[in-house]
Amino acid sequence: MSNRCRVLELCPISCKYEEKIRHIRDYAYDIDIRFRSMKISDINDLVNEVCQYLVQILNKRRNIKITELYYRAARTIIKYLLGENSKNKLELNDKRLPPLVDYIFSLFYVWYSMNNLSSKPAYCPRCNTKLYVFTNFCPVCKSGIKTSYKEFRQCYKLKPEEDVIGRMGIGIARAILNMTINDYYVAFEGPKFRDIPLETDIIITEGKSDMQNILLIEAKVHPAIYIPVVVGKKLDMDIPFVRIESERLHVKELIRHFILSVGFDDFCEIWWKLWSEDKNLLKRAEGLLYGSRGPYDDTKNKPGIARTDDLKKALAQMIMYSTIRLECKKYEHKLFTGIFSNVYPKEKWGDLLKLIYTTEYVTNAAKFPLISAVICLTTNEFREEGVRHIFE
Ligand SMILES: [Zn+2]
Repeated sequence: MSNRCRVLELCPISCKYEEKIRHIRDYAYDIDIRFRSMKISDINDLVNEVCQYLVQILNKRRNIKITELYYRAARTIIKYLLGENSKNKLELNDKRLPPLVDYIFSLFYVWYSMNNLSSKPAYCPRCNTKLYVFTNFCPVCKSGIKTSYKEFRQCYKLKPEEDVIGRMGIGIARAILNMTINDYYVAFEGPKFRDIPLETDIIITEGKSDMQNILLIEAKVHPAIYIPVVVGKKLDMDIPFVRIESERLHVKELIRHFILSVGFDDFCEIWWKLWSEDKNLLKRAEGLLYGSRGPYDDTKNKPGIARTDDLKKALAQMIMYSTIRLECKKYEHKLFTGIFSNVYPKEKWGDLLKLIYTTEYVTNAAKFPLISAVICLTTNEFREEGVRHIFE
């Protein structure tokens, strides 16, 4: 067997599996069409729709993938928040998208920890408040609940585990991609084949007919800022928060309370101020930023793709996909590689990523960029026309 054959056998869309991939693509496209025509006219529609997906996630005997359910829940929430009257296709550069990711994550996190038997709300001894918070920060006292983040984590298991966050992230990413690509295309989760170790988080290709252009995406989605939830106490706070009467709240009530408590437009404004490190707001809400220095959090929770391990993995995937692209005769000019994240990394990691995606790689056989597209919502870069076209 030649070397070329061995490389192509690792291909996540190899000819051997094309039929199966097309089948998964067709199913995803049908769902997409249904979502496009779906009407979410009021809060009751939203609550009922999202509730059924979240309940299924917790159901042990479900016959649908968890990531698919997170995707449908996220897509419904986006339809509601961005208004039924706005045109169906969203612009990738829409300033509401990075805050939107965090808004949905916040709702998912609270719902998840309320339904996790081993977690209970955090308690701030200084102001006697019960809270659902995911960093060691009391938004009422504006200080740490425990002396360190480590101690907080040992005491309260509120933040979902990494694999759960990963599934939520894939669902949200797919929802945003399907609403920003043009109608001819569809974004779906890359299937896992037992004998292919090289997995793809999300694949984008034509929704009907032949697969002409294929974008293989490595998605790293991790929230940047969250919305705290206060149990019981009536409060007046100058940052967005949700107040609930009891920690034993039905999921429908939680969704309703959450959406009605935090105006999405207000949250977008606050989000951008915090993200751009507005000094006044930082003093009041620094601890709501993930990955901030102690005592509130640690660097493992850095937002988007800013965690060293995540960036390393994404770059390794780009190299592996590019190798397949180089060897593949069938999709020679149409196999693209992309990184998706909810925020572009700040400082040195952002500079490094820029250096990598602006470099052309030249081999004896071809010349192309290692990364065809960097879609990080706060910054989006297309290195190849074929990919830009998908989003037009
Ligand atoms: Zn407090």
